[in-house]
Amino acid sequence: MRRMTARPANVHQARLLRLLRDAGPHSRAQLGDQVDLSRSKLAVEIDRLLETGLVVADGLAASRGGRRSHNIRLAPNLRFLGVDIGATSVDVAVTNAELEVLGHLNQPMDVREGPVAVFERVLAMAAKLRAGGIAEGLDGAGVGVPGPVRYPEGVPVAPPIMPGWDGFPVREALSRELGCPVMVDNDVNLMAMGEQHAGVARSVGDFLCIKIGTGIGCGIVAGGEVHRGTTGSAGDIGHIRVEADGRACACGNRGCLEAHFSGAALARDAEEAARTGRSPELTARLEAAGRLTAADVAAAAAAGDSTALDLIREGGGRVGQVIAGLVSFFNPGLVVIGGGVTGLGHTLLASVRTQVYRQSLPLATGNLPIVLGELGPAAGVIGAGRLISDHLFSPA
Ligand SMILES: [Zn+2]
Repeated sequence: MRRMTARPANVHQARLLRLLRDAGPHSRAQLGDQVDLSRSKLAVEIDRLLETGLVVADGLAASRGGRRSHNIRLAPNLRFLGVDIGATSVDVAVTNAELEVLGHLNQPMDVREGPVAVFERVLAMAAKLRAGGIAEGLDGAGVGVPGPVRYPEGVPVAPPIMPGWDGFPVREALSRELGCPVMVDNDVNLMAMGEQHAGVARSVGDFLCIKIGTGIGCGIVAGGEVHRGTTGSAGDIGHIRVEADGRACACGNRGCLEAHFSGAALARDAEEAARTGRSPELTARLEAAGRLTAADVAAAAAAGDSTALDLIREGGGRVGQVIAGLVSFFNPGLVVIGGGVTGLGHTLLASVRTQVYRQSLPLATGNLPIVLGELGPAAGVIGAGRLISDHLFSPA
């Protein structure tokens, strides 16, 4: 089967493809309202896109008076693979070109097994999804990894929580295996793009997306676009120092935010509290399971355990302290909090909010919602589809 061989020939075609991806089928008249082109030039660009097969005419559009025209939509057989590699699990999904998830698998996995073992798993999951008949072929794949990525080359650089990945050519290797174009980015940026496409950040131009999982990172969206910085490490807030002579961090420094509050730090502190008998609830859980995770802290807090609640409040205060600095610097319209610790829910959110509102100036926080992400694990794979489609829906 013929896969996506054409690319948009110019910026107008690229803009039309992204519009159709983000807002679904449009009539020619509706497209005309959205792009700055004369009617005749618009007709030429749409006809060229129809010739490439990237878009198709589909159903009659609602009449605006005069002759009714066909709706234009992205080719319904286009398929993207979204891969979101976390520290302890991996999500793989297939989407159409409008980034609707057609199939989604999640498996536990340890990123420290290294790229070869992890990609074997990813390829097997992709094959399983495709065997279900939802994709005859793949037009492109987006991949997120839990560490800094040199962009657009798609190479992880000195990732503290994923030893063995430093310098591995993820983009090149996966593109060869999958037989389609691949783009690679930090998992936090993918989450931001997912929430922007289909979640709580829809229609917000400037926002921050804080992902608190095993580590902590921040996706920065400015003017509707992800800001990656000069080398791709923008938003790596987990290693901002919050304590002068604090806890040792995986990066080799001391006192980093993520050494004091992250999924891993929370598990460590919870086990400490359990061993020293400060929390009967956590002690019982540690004895039963042999180890504790952020989910145990969430469950203990829900059961009213005061030590668990204190751990979440203290952590929320520390994240809030860093977010307050970011808010003063960036003046976002929205702050989204997501990742594995969203199970800590409203206790975490309340302490983050308190800290940010206390520390930032009123002009910056006057209308600033701080909310939990809406999409959960789907955010990363939808963001991955957005990443690869942004690349493919750009002039070649
Ligand atoms: Zn660090």
